[in-house]
Amino acid sequence: MEVEQKQACTELLELVIDGQATQKQHDELMGHLEKCEECREEYLLSKSIKDSLKNHIKPSTSPTGLANSIQNKISETAFLK
Ligand SMILES: [Zn+2]
Repeated sequence: MEVEQKQACTELLELVIDGQATQKQHDELMGHLEKCEECREEYLLSKSIKDSLKNHIKPSTSPTGLANSIQNKISETAFLK
């Protein structure tokens, strides 16, 4: 019984972290987090991991670097001709 309860918490938590929870599910989790310290810590941890992943991915997917390297390739090719 306890395990099932814990799993329901975790599933709800993942939905909210992924931004796929409904408003009702979100409110449900927030209400639960106030009472359940274990889930609150897990929520804060997951949220900070997700935020830091987002921040780390952003610079590397910036199109500026790619555009510059394409631009360089084009001018190299044009120069050779
Ligand atoms: Zn819980």
